[in-house]
Amino acid sequence: MNVRPNASAELAILVVAAGRGARAGDGLPKQYRSLAGRSVLAHALSALHRAAPDALLAPVIHPDDLELYGACVAELDASVAGRLKAPAFGGATRQDSVRAGLEALEGDRPGIVLIHDAARVFASAALIERAIVAARAHGAAIPGVAVTDTIKEIDADSAIVATAPRARLRAVQTPQAFDFDLILSAHRKAAAAGANELTDDAAIAEWAGHRVHVFEGDAANMKITSASDISLAEARLIRDLQDIRTGQGYDVHAFGPGDHIWLGGIKITHDHGLIGHSDADVLSHAITDALFGALADGDIGSHFPPSDPQWRGAASKIFLAAAAAAVRACGGMIAHVDATLICERPKVGPHRDAIRAAIAAIIDVPLDRVAIKATTSERLGFTGREEGIAATAIATIRLPL
Ligand code: MG
Repeated sequence: MNVRPNASAELAILVVAAGRGARAGDGLPKQYRSLAGRSVLAHALSALHRAAPDALLAPVIHPDDLELYGACVAELDASVAGRLKAPAFGGATRQDSVRAGLEALEGDRPGIVLIHDAARVFASAALIERAIVAARAHGAAIPGVAVTDTIKEIDADSAIVATAPRARLRAVQTPQAFDFDLILSAHRKAAAAGANELTDDAAIAEWAGHRVHVFEGDAANMKITSASDISLAEARLIRDLQDIRTGQGYDVHAFGPGDHIWLGGIKITHDHGLIGHSDADVLSHAITDALFGALADGDIGSHFPPSDPQWRGAASKIFLAAAAAAVRACGGMIAHVDATLICERPKVGPHRDAIRAAIAAIIDVPLDRVAIKATTSERLGFTGREEGIAATAIATIRLPL
């Protein structure tokens, strides 16, 4: 292998995330679909970092997806984000996108590059190790798994024309692994020759005249394509989040002059306002504290000190979204939030659905994982005298062990 004195990483992993495929539902490209609380791409990048902590992660995205990509990066643990190269922008085809990613990596001069689909979120350390070893030994290598179904070739009328010998068939996966210079040069040659219908990087290496080795893949390294794959992948990811924690939160704000209050990010007309340093959204504050409590990571006051003028009059959904992001940054998910408002007035019932939907949107979980309840205190105590509103909340989160 060439000596690369200026290498910033011996290994780069190019993550192809520029596709438009929305077959997995939600109307979003599938790499940005939510999966157990984080985007598919955030899961893929996190799994790759766990498997190869020293690798440079090089995403290729669609230029229309910058906002979605920014949200994905916000879901990453700092250690993952720290290995992330600025995204390259993909082209019209997967082949164009990979070439753009390789060109962007040229200055980093990695020895080996792995080319991986963002839709595969279960790449294991053992698989990545086999990929690196095979690339070093063969220059071009891809993972393949034995085919268990018999494969038939059919004609245009669906009649069988051939039965392939199953023992010699492999279903191939990613990451496909290459000597960096070999695959960059093959991509450049293919582009210059107008050979633009090569479906994977192995085909490009073959087209350029290289022998491509097939190493042992991993049946667990599934590719997310359809909505049912999303469900399957989600079940596997949730199963792996075994550290289940509960946090509680409690908050009170006093009534004062005003004509509206904020509850769960919803503005509600009332004959008083609530007094507070921020927007005094007592419900959002209680849920924020429940989330920080579940993480055993201080409270709303330690994260957003009232002494800091930037939080004066702030919309409390900022605090709530930040607490939810802190759960995701640990690789976790919010399993459930249950909150109760305690007040005589305003009547919460008419606003409950809107509040619930707003909370679910702010913390980015499905509606059926959020419960909002309300009660009076039977005219007893400070809430009974309508001096203020109290809120309690419980949050259940799941973290990796
Ligand atoms: Mg408060």
